[in-house]
Amino acid sequence: MLVITGTGASQGVAIGPLHFLAFQAAEIRREKAADPEAEAARFEQARLAACTQLDELYRNAVEKVGMENAAIFDIHRMMLEDLDYRESVMDRIRNQGLNAEYAVSLTAEEFSAMFSSMDDEYMKERAADVADISERLQQALNPQAHKALMPKGPSILAALDIRPSEAVQLDKDRILGFATVEGSAFAHTAILARSMLLPAVVGLGAKLDASLDGKPAILDGYSGTLYIDPDDATKVAMQAKLRESLKRREDLRKLKDQPSVTADGTKIEVFANVNHISGLDEAADNAAEGIGLFRSEFLFLESKTYPTEEEQFAVYKKVATFMQGKKVVIRTLDIGADKQADYFHLPDEANPALGLRAIRLCLTRPEVFKTQLRALYRASVFGNIAIMFPMIISVEEVRDIRGITDEVMGELKNEGFAFNADTERGIMIETPAAVMISDELAKMVDFFSIGTNDLTQYTLAIDREHNGLSHFYNPHHPAVMKMIEITVKAAHEAGIWAGICGELGADLTLTETFLRMGVDELSVSPGMILPLKEKIIKTDMRAVMK
Ligand code: PEP
Ligand code: MG
Repeated sequence: MLVITGTGASQGVAIGPLHFLAFQAAEIRREKAADPEAEAARFEQARLAACTQLDELYRNAVEKVGMENAAIFDIHRMMLEDLDYRESVMDRIRNQGLNAEYAVSLTAEEFSAMFSSMDDEYMKERAADVADISERLQQALNPQAHKALMPKGPSILAALDIRPSEAVQLDKDRILGFATVEGSAFAHTAILARSMLLPAVVGLGAKLDASLDGKPAILDGYSGTLYIDPDDATKVAMQAKLRESLKRREDLRKLKDQPSVTADGTKIEVFANVNHISGLDEAADNAAEGIGLFRSEFLFLESKTYPTEEEQFAVYKKVATFMQGKKVVIRTLDIGADKQADYFHLPDEANPALGLRAIRLCLTRPEVFKTQLRALYRASVFGNIAIMFPMIISVEEVRDIRGITDEVMGELKNEGFAFNADTERGIMIETPAAVMISDELAKMVDFFSIGTNDLTQYTLAIDREHNGLSHFYNPHHPAVMKMIEITVKAAHEAGIWAGICGELGADLTLTETFLRMGVDELSVSPGMILPLKEKIIKTDMRAVMK
């Protein structure tokens, strides 16, 4: 039995074969580079991105499995630095005018063939490494273009990492859980796993490699452990744990119809975070009192091109209708950073989390923004929709947003469309800037929803995606707690409501703290609704306040 430990990112136990998720390489076509110099620069950028990935993999692996086992990542990095390899690709781009993808694939073939023909066994094996680094380069050149090859039957999916745009394409029926080499508990893939009610363990390191494909495995999302070829004692213990977790879920279902009110009568709304319309059933099944965060960008991530107004309208209408008058907070497009869609053609950025994302993107591309707003307002008559804007940092942005939303309503009115002119407009508080001016912002909007995932990232200056830094990424940090308190106070002083839709809302060790702060709503992944409800019902604020 092989035992690999990582970080538990989504609770639960999965028992089944391990399937290493292979990504079908995008079809590589021979094309003529319109501008060979620009193409050469594109290759260089992809190469540097691949080097950075390998550096990070190496560092994490040294920490977890020691220098010797981590060496492979260092070897791959050296191969990417190799002058002959680089010159071979560059020559094909600059002198033969080929596109970078094709140049990389020709060089990969040539170098693999050369290594394979060598007598030395060690050198022969390097052919596989050439293929590996070339695949990494292809992915860096076209991050969205490769397609997941799914297992035939239900399996624990293993991968280096799974990008949100890839995760949305996976067929849930064939996934028992996620196990990744990289990744962090606050990255979007972990969030997706939680919303799909699937166990996940991330940051398992280099011990989890493709040679384990097909092996029987057990994934324990509670302790962050992956067992390969489990022995009988482990099987028995894990089966018991699985039964226990299913029973606990069943017991919690008894709370479905109970209101989320503390023993002393304090009411706090418990809403669901939903990423996709396919998640609506889970929200309803867990008795969500509303949807506090509908991540509309997943609609864009699963699409090959910009979803039209009609396509978006159909989705928003469905969400609003499904929830039958309960509040549905739909967040406008939060694309950028780790959530990339090719057709946006976003520039490569040194610091994407600090780059062109979310509201910044919408305000620089008003046509995309307005299409979404038109669809949202048109859907507003089918239920209780509230519109929420992410990544706000200034009063000017909110002023611009109000101007654009007013303009959209004016246009719809002239065109004879029905819409609810009183649709709530709220903002996410997920930057320290927004917290510091929350008193001013509160006068301009109808609600605040605190995005603790990004708020922690930007307050502590720690990349939420960075597995190697996860022990520094502390959402319980007093600075984060103070930010939440300031925000809720500013909201209440202005007479608006304030909720939390970041993952911290589901942290049961903080429920009392949030109740004490007066948080009005907690929006959590569907699987956490009932545990949170249980915690609320059992809390007596008279005892807590003593
Ligand atoms: C957050 O940042 O806390 C949040 C809810 O938004 P996302 O996780 O999608 O960035
Ligand atoms: Mg966020």
